[in-house]
Parts: sequence; structure tokens; C-alpha cells
Amino acid sequence: MLSVTLLSLSWAVLASSSKCILPISYSSQIYEVPAWLSLNYSCTGSAQLWEARPSPGKGMGVFATRALEPGDIILEEPPIIKIIPPDFRDGAAYPLSSIDMLLNSAFDALSEEKQAEVMSLHAHLTPGEENKESANRMLIPIFRSNAYIVGKTNTELGLFPKGARINHSCRPNSSQVWIDKIGKRVVRAVRHIEEGEEVFATYIPLLRDHKARQQRLDQYGFKCTCSACTHDRATQAASDRRRDDIRKAFADFEPQLTLTVPQSIAGRKRAEKNAAASEDLARLVEEEGLADYYAQAYRIVALSYARIEKWEAATRWAHKSYELNLAADEDAPNTLEMRALTEHFIQNWNTDLYNKSNQHG
Ligand SMILES: [Zn+2]
Repeated sequence: MLSVTLLSLSWAVLASSSKCILPISYSSQIYEVPAWLSLNYSCTGSAQLWEARPSPGKGMGVFATRALEPGDIILEEPPIIKIIPPDFRDGAAYPLSSIDMLLNSAFDALSEEKQAEVMSLHAHLTPGEENKESANRMLIPIFRSNAYIVGKTNTELGLFPKGARINHSCRPNSSQVWIDKIGKRVVRAVRHIEEGEEVFATYIPLLRDHKARQQRLDQYGFKCTCSACTHDRATQAASDRRRDDIRKAFADFEPQLTLTVPQSIAGRKRAEKNAAASEDLARLVEEEGLADYYAQAYRIVALSYARIEKWEAATRWAHKSYELNLAADEDAPNTLEMRALTEHFIQNWNTDLYNKSNQHG
């Protein structure tokens, strides 16, 4: 039996789908090989699939130049500027002067064209920063408004001018992840995107209600008008409730995410109820269109079915989660975990089928 290490739920899952996935070499003893295990996956090429142009009310935006499917890579980009900020002291902010120095020397080393690319980015200015004229003075606000955490240990900050053009939505159609191995930030479609449709990412955690999300977005200086924020009042309230329920369910499931099969009848009954509730959670996340959370929800359903030894369901859900994780980053710990879990569940499913065929034959 495989020993499987469960990871905590705290990782940020970046969902994607099966456009660029390699077939998995599972045990060939399975009695009835499900169709989804024998699919021939391939990887699509990388001609430029986006263009930057004005987006009404939002400055610039990024638009798809052809229809995109979940998993398609929209853009891959190395940081134009990358700095390693000095260590945090407890509770203290980064010393601004040292960031300033690091940024300025990185900026000065860029070609004129790249400097212009940096300076063309939007910056949300705080009151004290307004009316600053020199280019170098604008670097801090630009960096603060657009930089992402990157690097193997998440201790570096990078600026990605192309990706920075992607506007925010609370129901984004793309997700982004830093892939350390290639030194690039990769943006993928997480649902079907029409040709000419705007690409959106999220700047904030999404499992909060409309009001709390807007408070977080105030630091970027705009009012969100995405499809989740411009509903009529009743639809808005329903969306808020769903996000609230999803956040609570993620927290409630966390202590139960083990592979231990409950031994008592009451424990078993509870686990059966939880397996049904976990499917409700996955449905809720899909209904709300929160693609970044699909893989995390599917993992919960897989483990919930494993706890009641429903190996077929556990395998299918684990594989769904694995596919999404794999498309985002093949080397990420959660990808490796879901692969191990899928293999483990499929072995148990296989043993089950073998036992059943012996009983009947
Ligand atoms: Zn919104």
C-alpha cells in the first residue's frame, strides 16, 4: 500500500483543465478501463492569443484574439524587474528606502523600450504620492500596484507588464501561477473564452461577499463592475450566500481530510453524509464559477468518498483534481499529492472489483 501524505488545504489552487495533460500510466489490471483514462492528450502551440487594447471604464485590458478553451496558455512572461526585498521585521513594513534603491537600480539597467513599458503601467497613488513628476518617483506606486510574489520560496517580487494589463473580476476566466522551473508567470484560461472577449484575473481572495471584496479592491483604486458585482440585489445576495457557504464548508471539511475509515456505525453514517455534502460543495463552487477553487473542492470530494471506501467515486474526483493541478504546475506538491491519491484509490478500486468477480465467479 502506498503511503500518502495529505497536504494542508491552505495552498492556493490554480485551476486549469485537460488541454495540455499527459496520459497517466496507471495500473493496467483495471477490469473496465474508464474512457477518461485512455484519452490521448496533447499540448497546443503558443502563438500570441491575446492583444492589449482599451477596455471601457478600465483603462487597458487584455482580450483573446481567438476562442480559448480551459487550460489554454494565454501568455507566459518572465519578470521585467525582479527584486529580493530585505527581510520583514515583525510587524514592520519593508523599509521603503531600500526597496526604492533596489527598484531604481533594476529599472536603470533596463533598455529604454522596457523602461517605457514599466512606466506605462497603471499606478494607484496614495494622497502623498500625487504630483510626483520624475519617472523614478513613480516606480514604487507602479510596483506596489502591479508586482507579484515569485521565486522558489516566495520571497521575491516580480513585475510582469503584459500580465499586469489583465483586469480584475470576482468571477475570473483565467488563472495565473509562477512556475519556478521556467522562471515565468503563466496565465491560462479556466473556462471557455470567446474570440474578442476580455481576459480577467482576480487580484484578491474571492470567498468573501461583495462588500468585503470591494474593501480589498479599494487599494487598487477602482469599483468592481464584474458580473458578480453588478447583479440585481437578489442575485447579488445569492452569490454572497454561496461564497459564504463555500468558505465555511472548506473550513468545516479540513479536520476530516484524512484517509482513516471511521469504524463506528455513527462515524460511518456521518462520513456518508459528509460525502454527499462534499458533492454539494463542488456543485456550489462550479455554480459560482470560482474556477480557482475547483481542484481544492474536488480533492475534498475524493477524500470524503475514500473515507467510506467508495473507490470508484474517490478515483474519479481525485483524477479531476489531479488534472487541474497538473495543468497549472506539474511539479507542485498538490499535483504530486493528487497523483499519489489517484493511484492509491485506483488500486483499491481494482482490488474491490477483483474481490467482487471472485465472489461471483
Ligand atoms: Zn467583482
